[in-house]
Amino acid sequence: MSNQSIGLSDPLYQYLLANSVREPEILAKLRAETAQHPLVNMQISPEQGQLMGLLVQLISAKKCLEVGVFTGYSSLSVALNLPDDGQIIACDVSDEFTSIARKYWQEAGVANKISLYIAPALETLDRLILNGESGTFDFAFIDADKNNYGAYYDRCFQLVRQGGLILVDNVLWYGRVADPAMENDKRTQAIKQINQQIYCDHRVQISLIPIGDGLTIARKK
Ligand code: CA
Repeated sequence: MSNQSIGLSDPLYQYLLANSVREPEILAKLRAETAQHPLVNMQISPEQGQLMGLLVQLISAKKCLEVGVFTGYSSLSVALNLPDDGQIIACDVSDEFTSIARKYWQEAGVANKISLYIAPALETLDRLILNGESGTFDFAFIDADKNNYGAYYDRCFQLVRQGGLILVDNVLWYGRVADPAMENDKRTQAIKQINQQIYCDHRVQISLIPIGDGLTIARKK
């Protein structure tokens, strides 16, 4: 499951939640609503949301990208940690899922910080590049269709500034990346490919953290 950290026993996971996660009420409410959703495992875990908020603060991020919004937990975690003039360009293809996100952005008072583009993310990212916004983003989070991960990473690398962060989600893919039985599975292959691509990309400093379903943090040198 993507909405809890991979590889931890249940009691240990409960301990981690109880002793380290300070989930704002609005995020808890969104998580409760998304728990009813059949695709709930597309939501990031609360400890991952908290880490993302911390990273955004650490680098004093102002301008962020999100590739894959779903019901908005990650964008809200980021937005709550941005300054008043902070901005998120959010990409998704689903009006239905993001209608839940929009409701919570409103309720949290951060809707003015988030511009949502309902279109294939590659189109939105390419338009940003054409508009001359390369090197202007502080932070990018990639959590969308796995087959396009490589293309998303290339564009986010271009759009992020030196010292900015690119986060890539689901990089342990429920453990399938290390399961020989999943060798021919297309999405598992796509995840293994992006992991190799980032591992070999010496333009970034990296760490793969086994939080949620595995999160790679890449810092553009
Ligand atoms: Ca995910």
